[in-house]
Amino acid sequence: MEIFIIVFLAFLGMIFGSFYACMGYRIPNKIPLTKPNSYCENCKKEIKWYMNIPVFSFLFLKGRCAYCNSKIDPLSFVVEIITSFLFIVFYIKYGFTVTFFISIVLISVLGVTMVSDFRYYYVSDRVVILGLISLIVLVYFEKDFMFYKIISGLILFALIFLIKIIGDKIFKKESLGGGDIKLLGLIGLALGFYPSLISLIISCSMTLVYYFLSKQEEKEIPFGPFLLLGALIVLYFIPSFNLF
Ligand SMILES: [Zn+2]
Repeated sequence: MEIFIIVFLAFLGMIFGSFYACMGYRIPNKIPLTKPNSYCENCKKEIKWYMNIPVFSFLFLKGRCAYCNSKIDPLSFVVEIITSFLFIVFYIKYGFTVTFFISIVLISVLGVTMVSDFRYYYVSDRVVILGLISLIVLVYFEKDFMFYKIISGLILFALIFLIKIIGDKIFKKESLGGGDIKLLGLIGLALGFYPSLISLIISCSMTLVYYFLSKQEEKEIPFGPFLLLGALIVLYFIPSFNLF
């Protein structure tokens, strides 16, 4: 039975991942989510449903458009794989518990933010707010942790907001994106205060590594995906470290 659930979650992750990536492209460009159907960025031809199957179509088409042979952005494919992988990993670790569903919220925001932040330096308010509402509902079921987590989210938000104001004054430009601050509020609510601080350290380290590995001179570094990835790493290891 277990194996059926895992296979099911693998496919569900691919389908959800595909939808998150689509949101990540469309929300920053103000394209409605339902219309038009997927089309090639280069030749604008509509992509038929059998060429739009998550993960498999990309592999089958070798990452190129079936009409004009131009390269398809591999980021969607990456999001589909990562979403599917994380769905499985968190299910195996936690089963269908509140923690599992908290991870699903973070994975979902990660999927959208990976595309929107890497491609457009954009973190969607609507997606973060949707995540916050889902988390408040989930945290309610954690009874003992409820107040701790809600206060944690608020404190982290306020703390980072303060750092941003000081940073903006010192560097005389936007030091932290507004989206990143909201994401930290979200992470505080998901993890609680101390685990969030640890996740922040992990995120900053990953961002630094990314900065040194990415050769092209980028004017901005997308911080959002690393914040969420750090949070997921901590969420995965929380029971082993007794972090609450
Ligand atoms: Zn094309």
